Amino acid sequence: MKPAPTPIPPHGSPRRAGAKLPPFERVVVPAHEPTATGWVFQGAPEGFVSKSFDRPIAKAGEVVCDVVLSSICGSDLHTVHGRREEPAPLILGHEIVGRITEIGGPGLSDWQGELLSVGDLITWSIMASCGNCFYCKKNLPQKCLKLHKYGHCTCEGNQPLSGGFSECIVLHPGTAIFKVPEHLDPVFVVPANCALATAFNAIETVGLQAGETVLIQGAGLIGIYLAAICKDLGASKVIVVDVNAKRLRIAERFRADIAVDLSESTGEALTDLVNAFTHCHGVDVVFEACGSDAVIEPGARLLRKGGRYLVAGLVTADARFDIPADLLTKNCLSVMGIHNYRPEHLARAMAFIDLHADSLPFDEIVSAVYPLSGLREAMKAASTGEHLRVALRCTPSKTNGSF
Ligand SMILES: [Zn+2]
Ligand SMILES: [Zn+2]
Repeated sequence: MKPAPTPIPPHGSPRRAGAKLPPFERVVVPAHEPTATGWVFQGAPEGFVSKSFDRPIAKAGEVVCDVVLSSICGSDLHTVHGRREEPAPLILGHEIVGRITEIGGPGLSDWQGELLSVGDLITWSIMASCGNCFYCKKNLPQKCLKLHKYGHCTCEGNQPLSGGFSECIVLHPGTAIFKVPEHLDPVFVVPANCALATAFNAIETVGLQAGETVLIQGAGLIGIYLAAICKDLGASKVIVVDVNAKRLRIAERFRADIAVDLSESTGEALTDLVNAFTHCHGVDVVFEACGSDAVIEPGARLLRKGGRYLVAGLVTADARFDIPADLLTKNCLSVMGIHNYRPEHLARAMAFIDLHADSLPFDEIVSAVYPLSGLREAMKAASTGEHLRVALRCTPSKTNGSF
């Protein structure tokens, strides 16, 4: 039978972040089957096949988790639709909340230094890094020379369970683990270890100052989170542009001052708007968060002299950064790029969700949840662009909470 998405109550319902949620019961994790099921992506266009794996035993320093919830990121869709190459066969999915079932050795703690226990609800950094290589020492652990990136590694070899579209996952030493507070619904938290942590990296890299004006190109999840963080940090005006009216309305609820639908508005109208808010100087900062290189030159032309342009969403090999060099030179522009983040950005992301659980509509982000068995339907739903995120509930509920 075709699984139906779980309806998510509308904004303002009892499921809303501010409402009193039932506490997650600290459960005794029951004995497991000796195998775990995962969806293996075999490449585009072959697609997915469901496979059974031996349930792993945690080696020293490892943590084995049931995958509670895993959301489908835009980069998963890029891979599935052949726009981005990954080392297939692999288990995709890197935005994950899990519950610990086994810990490899005593005394393992989370990134904040708290001891981990079986039954803890956790999320973790998208990558495990060695801490000692050239890039780790350059403060780029996401580019570690021994990088293990969840949902991006082949499942051939001795560690097949490293993606979220599975009942079980193994976390490696060098992963920054964060406990999910029991009062937070995992639905609010699940994209934190990708889009929200990346947004914090973007903010830090661009060095946003209070009072600055900001243009965000794209009301996808990074753009929507960026709007709220910029306002939190005192940005005087945050303009978000997109061609998707529904996402622009969500951006407004995530505190964008102005949401401009470029399917109904001209570039000249946007320039007039920026001029009106900046005394014709241009904005201080532009964030590219839409994945289209067509926005780069128009965005760079809306910057003030000395402005900063940060690229956060261009991950496909055919995208180009193409602007006249004299625009860069004569307008004294700074251009920067980021990819993923460091563990401290995920720490800020977790604190942000906790701080704003009452005031921001996190319940609007994951708008459909399917069982793991419904992966193909979930992928179809995610590919429509109707949802910011579609999630998979990968293990049956073992608590008296939502998951
Ligand atoms: Zn992602
Ligand atoms: Zn390293």
